[in-house]
Amino acid sequence: MGYKNYSDWFGVEGFSANFSFNEKDYSILSHRRDFASLLDYDQNALVIPKQVHSKNVYYVDSPGLLEETDGVFSDKKEIVLTIQVADCIPLFLMDVKTERWGLIHSGWQGTAKNIAGEAIDQFQKSRSNPGYIKAVLGPSIGQCCFEVGREVSDQFDIAFSIPGKGNRKMVDLRGVLKSQLTEVGVSQANILIDDDCTFCQDDLYFSYRREGDKAGRMVAIAGWR
Ligand SMILES: [Zn+2]
Repeated sequence: MGYKNYSDWFGVEGFSANFSFNEKDYSILSHRRDFASLLDYDQNALVIPKQVHSKNVYYVDSPGLLEETDGVFSDKKEIVLTIQVADCIPLFLMDVKTERWGLIHSGWQGTAKNIAGEAIDQFQKSRSNPGYIKAVLGPSIGQCCFEVGREVSDQFDIAFSIPGKGNRKMVDLRGVLKSQLTEVGVSQANILIDDDCTFCQDDLYFSYRREGDKAGRMVAIAGWR
C-alpha cells in the first residue's frame, strides 16, 4: 500500500506526516483506522473532524469526533490528527520549536476564508513563533484543472488566476494559500508544495471535481510514534 510521507522534510524526531492514495475511501472510519495502524499509529487515538468548509480551527487534547471543524492542532503527542480531502488542500503545520502541530482542510471555500491565516493566528496565541513553523501543502487540485466562474474566481486576488474558457478563470489555490502563510510570517523556505494534481492523476487520487458526489476521500494523518 502506497502513501506520501513528509516526515523527513519536517525533520522532527518521532513526528510522522503522511497522506494516503486512493486505495480505499478513507471517509469510512474503519479504513482510516486501518491506515493509521499500517503507519504504526495508535488507531484508537485518532482525531476526526466533521468538515464543513468553515474556517473553524480548534486546539484538541483528546481523540474523537469534532463537529463543524476544518482545522485541528495540538501539543499532546498521544493523539493523532486526521483530515480527509479530495481536491481540497491538506495543510500540514509543525512548529519545530514547541513541537505543536496541526492539520488544516483548505478547499476553495476555506482558502477564500483564509483558514490557514486563522490557524497560524491560533498557533501564535499558543505562543508559537511563525518563524519556526514548517508547512506542507499536500496533493490537491492544481491550477491546471481548477477552472471556475466569476462567483469563485472573484474571491481571490487576480494575480492568482490565468484565463480559462470564456469568462472562466484557472485559479492557483496553492499560490493563494502560500501567500496567506507568508503574510503572517511563515518563511517561504519553510513551505513545501506537493505538485501532484488530484484531478490529473486519476490513478493515485480521488477527485471530487472529476468524480462528483461518489468520490472517495484521501486522508492526511500527522502525529507521533
Ligand atoms: Zn491538473
